[in-house]
Amino acid sequence: MLTVSKEMKWASSHRLMNKDGTKFYPKEKCGSGHGHEYFCEFTFTNYTSSELDKTTCAVILEKCGETDEFGFVIDFSDIKKIVQTWIDENWDHVTIVHPKDKSLIEFLIKEGDRFFIMPEGYTTSAESMAMFLFKKFENLLPEGVILLSVSVWETLTSKATYSKDKRWI
Ligand SMILES: [Zn+2]
Repeated sequence: MLTVSKEMKWASSHRLMNKDGTKFYPKEKCGSGHGHEYFCEFTFTNYTSSELDKTTCAVILEKCGETDEFGFVIDFSDIKKIVQTWIDENWDHVTIVHPKDKSLIEFLIKEGDRFFIMPEGYTTSAESMAMFLFKKFENLLPEGVILLSVSVWETLTSKATYSKDKRWI
């Protein structure tokens, strides 16, 4: 098995609410607005056999890890183009907001600040961010490239990882 990983970073602020937006996490902790320098890591593998189906990932993982004619799983600059560009435009130096945090959204609009509202069902936790990034990019990759996992570090010692396959967590 051959995989490649790419790390990227951004800085943003958030505050934590529960999933249905009815209460904040304790205000002396992450329920109050604060910022992080986030890191994420995307891990990929590849396959070249056209009869393999990307949707049955568990089966094909036994057969993947092949490289293209240049010896790449995926060109690192392609990952940067696809993922880092989106992160820079949408998550860097913005407030990442819970979809039901109306008072914060009103405040950010009034101040003219940049913000990103997470989709319904997500919070602003590192776990939610990892899951969001995985689901956003898994189908936006070049032919034959499979996204195995996405990890998000909120601090140097705190990481959340999302994968569809438990072997990659
Ligand atoms: Zn935080």
